[in-house]
Amino acid sequence: MNKTGFAIFPPDEPKQEIRLRRFFIGTAAHAMNITFVLLCWALGYLGNHAVGLYLSLDIGFVLAVYFMIRSGMNKRFKDPSLTFIQISVPAVLGLFVMFFAGEARSTFLLLGVTMFAFGMFRFKIREFIQLAIFILLGYALLIVLLVQYSPHGINLKFEILQWLAFAVTLIQFSFLAGFIGNLRRAVGEKNLELAQQNAELEIALQRISDMAIRDELTGVYNRRYLMERIAEEAQRCTRYGSVFSICMVDIDFFKKVNDTYGHLAGDEVLRSVATSASKTLRTTDFFGRFGGEEFVIALINTPMEGAMVIAERVRQQIESLTFPEIDANFRVTISIGVAEHVRRIEPAHTLKQADDALYRAKESGRNTIVGAPLSQ
Ligand code: GH3
Ligand code: MG
Ligand code: MG
Repeated sequence: MNKTGFAIFPPDEPKQEIRLRRFFIGTAAHAMNITFVLLCWALGYLGNHAVGLYLSLDIGFVLAVYFMIRSGMNKRFKDPSLTFIQISVPAVLGLFVMFFAGEARSTFLLLGVTMFAFGMFRFKIREFIQLAIFILLGYALLIVLLVQYSPHGINLKFEILQWLAFAVTLIQFSFLAGFIGNLRRAVGEKNLELAQQNAELEIALQRISDMAIRDELTGVYNRRYLMERIAEEAQRCTRYGSVFSICMVDIDFFKKVNDTYGHLAGDEVLRSVATSASKTLRTTDFFGRFGGEEFVIALINTPMEGAMVIAERVRQQIESLTFPEIDANFRVTISIGVAEHVRRIEPAHTLKQADDALYRAKESGRNTIVGAPLSQ
């Protein structure tokens, strides 16, 4: 129940909602049948008592089904849609009025076929046949009762012929509707399968496009993607005069890390350094693995001055990293060479300048940053 009190449909129960929607379609059929019964009554084919009883039982039944589905009681049944009950009970009520309908009796058989068609929501051929047998037995019983209680009112030969025609109609309908139901189910299952495959494909596609631009070990951008972005940025710089800087990052004495703690520990250090450094940067900057234990940062809209500040921040960040699973005392440091890109110059030249600056950083004792002299 929601805050506003009573709701016609149960909230957050899509299956129950579908059942109730089908029930309401059925209710419209009930309303039409009742109208037809009232017409028979108005035309003098049916008496007050029969119609009164029919109306109260039919309306009572409709309310009872609504109550059962809305309260969730239906979920205790083998078929929670209550399809069999929703067709067979009105069929019995129909047979009941037919008993009193005299000459108008056969017209109700047409309404009976429509009621039967409601089975299409759920039934397979076998269930349709079971329902057909139930209705045909009821109809046969009606003929027996008519012969018993108003023998002069009926033509037995004609009644049997009519029964047979009704039986043939229902059986044919059962096969047709059951067959269509099978097709519908098959299409539904196929659709579900396709939707699942689509979702899997989307994930696979995402993985492939990730793999194309990311480094497998560290998850940061790979060299090829970095070079593409740097080339784009260089074009922007030439065209619009935007400024950007490149930092070449290299882990100090990394060979020793491998030699002392093993290659797997070395990989772990590479991952930590990559993750930690990329977290320090803005989302507009690019950080990627250039190869081995070397990384590149492209700092967008950042001149040398600002790049030096950011490089220093990254250096400090890496220096403060700890690796308890390798060794509590183990620390790692990086050296960084920084260069500002100059308009109309090849990006490879800027990278070379950053690399030269990195070399000087290594020369001057490592764990430090060095800026390339501004050319021009
Ligand atoms: P420097 O301070 O001068 O940079 O010394 P270094 O030892 O870091 O430099 P060097 O270039 O001599 O060694 C880099 C080492 O990085 C050598 C190589 O075994 C290691 N390395 C490169 N790629 C990987 C990798 O993917 N995983 C691991 N564990 N090690 C790698
Ligand atoms: Mg190196
Ligand atoms: Mg190194």
